[in-house]
Amino acid sequence: MNVRTLLILLLSVILVAACDSEKTLKTYGLSGQTMGTAFNITLVTPPADTDLKKLHTAIFEELEHIENVASTYRSDSEVSAFNTNPSTDWITVNPEFCDMVSSALAVSATTNGAFDITVGPLVNLWGFGPSEQAHELPTDDEISVARNKVGYQMLRTDCDQNALRKISAEVYVDLSGWAKGYAVDKITALLDAEQIENYLVEIGGELRARGHNNKASKFTIAIEKPLQNNDMQHTIIHVSDVAVATSGDYRNFYERDGQRYSHTIDPRTGRPVTHDLTGVTVVSASTAYADAMATALLVLGPDEGPALAEQLGLASYFMVRTDQGIEEISTSQFAQLRQ
Ligand code: ADP
Ligand code: MG
Repeated sequence: MNVRTLLILLLSVILVAACDSEKTLKTYGLSGQTMGTAFNITLVTPPADTDLKKLHTAIFEELEHIENVASTYRSDSEVSAFNTNPSTDWITVNPEFCDMVSSALAVSATTNGAFDITVGPLVNLWGFGPSEQAHELPTDDEISVARNKVGYQMLRTDCDQNALRKISAEVYVDLSGWAKGYAVDKITALLDAEQIENYLVEIGGELRARGHNNKASKFTIAIEKPLQNNDMQHTIIHVSDVAVATSGDYRNFYERDGQRYSHTIDPRTGRPVTHDLTGVTVVSASTAYADAMATALLVLGPDEGPALAEQLGLASYFMVRTDQGIEEISTSQFAQLRQ
């Protein structure tokens, strides 16, 4: 069959609603769309003098700003201007863009290139980029051509000078695996500046919590398991003052002849990940870091992923497809969160 089926299963991470038998604290919710996905913000007992309308506007402006910097879906964004600039000299860029690239490159170094923002040509080739029209699966030659354009070592940063440099003119930066977590961190910084001490901020499944929920307890986060027959089991963690990010092969993928092609690309093979690791959740201080590490660990697969997470002391949870169902692997740091 030549018709591509695009299945988008959003929200692998859902927030468990607190049961309302007990008294609940006052909350303020804000939701909307950004970066091609939904965002949800819950503030619990914000200070009485909080100007919620002003805050609401500031949050929308921040999200708009981040898209204007980091979205490859906007032809006039900072990243698109950089991508279409063929110069291999230093290019002066927006400081925030430089900061994002430089922090993302640090994750590439930690993960030996499993997370790599120069993966854009492959993302686009496999039909997960801005020009998402259905097309035939790429040929080996096309994959090989695109792979030659990929490699985080082909990007240099000098953020003291707000400058970036491509070693090859064909380098194309894709910040889609970084921007949502980054945006969560920027919004939580806005809330912190307003002395809001209890909140949960979530964009497309990447989230950060501070303080307590409307029952004066830690926030309860359910991580769904991708099981067949719609029988979605989940594990639950209780968090406060941390970020949680999940990457999965079950949210944005298409199938061809029984093979699943997901939007997470292994830069080493130039192909979507095909192993049995189906989802990874990372808990960390920074949402941007958790977001990128979840992608990297998914790329690394069921053996290398948990090994790196243990080595880094990262609270991580892995779901692996087996004939018997979903096998779970948790690092010791993650196991503590489930109690
Ligand atoms: P998930 O939460 O499932 O990781 P994200 O939207 O956060 O989903 O990240 C996936 C996006 O990251 C892809 O759509 C693609 O643009 C980009 N991407 C894919 N593979 C990689 C990779 N190996 N390194 C960095 N970014 C990637
Ligand atoms: Mg992610």
